Amino acid sequence: MMVPFYHRVADSHPNPWTISRARFARHVDHCLQHLQPRSLADVQQLVRQGNCRQPTVTFTFDDGYAENCDFALPLLLEKQIPCTYFVTLSNLIHQQPFSHDRQRGCPLPVNNLRQIRELADVGIEIGLHSRDHIDFSTVNCAAELDLQIGQARTELEQRLGHPVRQFAFPFGMPRQLTAAAIAAVDRAGLHGFSSAFGGYNLPGRDAFHLRRFHGDCDFNRFRNWISFDPRKVRSEPTIRYQRIAEGPRAADPAPIAAPPLSPSAAIIQLPGATP
Ligand SMILES: [Zn+2]
Repeated sequence: MMVPFYHRVADSHPNPWTISRARFARHVDHCLQHLQPRSLADVQQLVRQGNCRQPTVTFTFDDGYAENCDFALPLLLEKQIPCTYFVTLSNLIHQQPFSHDRQRGCPLPVNNLRQIRELADVGIEIGLHSRDHIDFSTVNCAAELDLQIGQARTELEQRLGHPVRQFAFPFGMPRQLTAAAIAAVDRAGLHGFSSAFGGYNLPGRDAFHLRRFHGDCDFNRFRNWISFDPRKVRSEPTIRYQRIAEGPRAADPAPIAAPPLSPSAAIIQLPGATP
């Protein structure tokens, strides 16, 4: 089950976390030709059940960029493709551009609360991307983790009027996925967390951790992810943590019934962190 993540779909101010409208539309068309669109909740269910007869795709977005409401999200709605949209609470509330954009001298517009409410009302799932887009590799204090995750979730739900069930780690690389931060996701009662280091959600794996890959501007790299490359599974880092209710969890069980290697499979690559 494939879960690409995007940040910003726009034709202005290109940067490593922006993809053009035309390229995004190409991704959507390609996915619709080869994969069945499903929601993130469906992906978790299929992973838990341990059987998935047909490869699926779920589109996700991180941060909360205003321009996504101009093209990308209307396109997904028009084509009835499920989507989970992870927003950063403080930037949303205070209408403050992201620090990674301000540092580049390009303070791009962020979504406002009215937009996010409208997206939730039309069926787009709103998830949490932390309160302040912090780097969780630098935080160990439980109170700070709860402020960034549990309390932020409660506040986002109150402001939205919709439940918030999913969390996506800013940067989403293995160093951010600490046992302490994942425990805070668990304490908050969230249904799962999404990473961003590149991975597949294979039947029988841990369903609390949803693995995503970058919706890359390079179409060949994107197509390689979509066509499934088992070498990427073998090279994946192990994320260790303990669920409150489930006890110790180590490495996942070996993946079962992996699809055949695509002839277009490229070199294994662990991508760099994006916001
Ligand atoms: Zn981010």
